[in-house]
Amino acid sequence: MKNNNWLLYFILVGIILGGICGWWFGPQMTAVDWIGEIFLNALKMLVIPLIISSLIVGISGLGDITKVGKTGVITLVYFMTTTAFSVVIGLSMVNLMTPGESVEMVSDLPEGVASKRAMGITDILQSFISPNLVKSMMEMDILPIIIFSLVFGGVLTTLGEKGKGVISFFDTVNEAIMKMVHLVLYVAPLGIFALIASKLGAAGGGDAFWAELMKIGKFAFTVLAALLFHAIVVLPTILIFFTRRNPIKYFKGASPALTTAFSTASSSATLPVTIECAEENNGVSRQASLFVLPIGATVNMDGTAMYEAIAAIFIAQMIGVPLGFSEQLIIFVTATLAAIGAAGIPEAGLVTMVMVLQSVGLPLEGIGMLLSIDWFLDRCRTTINVWGDSIGAAVVDKLEEKYVEGG
Ligand code: ASP
Repeated sequence: MKNNNWLLYFILVGIILGGICGWWFGPQMTAVDWIGEIFLNALKMLVIPLIISSLIVGISGLGDITKVGKTGVITLVYFMTTTAFSVVIGLSMVNLMTPGESVEMVSDLPEGVASKRAMGITDILQSFISPNLVKSMMEMDILPIIIFSLVFGGVLTTLGEKGKGVISFFDTVNEAIMKMVHLVLYVAPLGIFALIASKLGAAGGGDAFWAELMKIGKFAFTVLAALLFHAIVVLPTILIFFTRRNPIKYFKGASPALTTAFSTASSSATLPVTIECAEENNGVSRQASLFVLPIGATVNMDGTAMYEAIAAIFIAQMIGVPLGFSEQLIIFVTATLAAIGAAGIPEAGLVTMVMVLQSVGLPLEGIGMLLSIDWFLDRCRTTINVWGDSIGAAVVDKLEEKYVEGG
């Protein structure tokens, strides 16, 4: 995709046209829904074989177990620190802007949330291991697939020549899938257009969307301001500090992934494009992007963690319950865990928010207030989730080169 600026321009045209058509023609645009679905399914179809082959190739490319361990630690430290930064930014913004103060809470417990019991740390740990990998694949339950592939790849490296044959098989699978990603990207502008136009249309068009947004306008503004700050200030600073790369160029290279994230609201569905952009456009080494990005798409969600923290305090402000430092600290921890536990699929963050609210005794009904506009804010936070992963790949690549390869 190198130097294929045209793809980026077409995608931008797709987004703008999609927004304009969805805004003006409203529900009529649901007629193009099927085009978006085909694009989305084409991406999703590639996700499982891509994750399995990427992690096997990625982990075997790292070399011996100490190198894997060091790179793993660097990756996790990056994920945890950036997520922590994002939650702190979210908490600061929501305390500063107090978006919930003048809003009255009028909502019922949303269906789907009512049936969810709070997810605890043990639930998250349990979700790491699946008794049936085929079932996990069918349900796109990615965390156990990641764990399996990491261990499988690691074990293959200990099998000598025999293992090498299998690794080279997955290497070829990976290359073939990436070629398919390349092909899917040619229809990305059309797919992105259809996804945005039909979603905005289904939400009732521009006027209905605007009216919904204005109901909780200050909340939406707080979320967007915090997300933007993280995306424009924090993450690029980390990129410059560790890699000396130009963040604007890096952003341009990653933008097909970011726009796909915005239109699909799913980090997992976006993963094929995220890997393609990191390797082809931004020159991140293959082993770093194949190792960091599949894990990042599932566990590293800066935008989601920040959103959950802001939403919890917003609900507390709405019902007039002031939260002290210790409660905010609990929110900090649970929002981080809830983001790790959230799957990279649309609106997953809303469900794991149950855990955050219950940890400080806030009413789950509050989630109902966020429901109508979540389809939009979800897209925004997913874009930041993918931006965080993309920068992570470059940072880990650099640090690995410096501290792991170099001894
Ligand atoms: N949709 C988000 C993602 O895929 C998760 C969420 O916050 O709901 O990254």
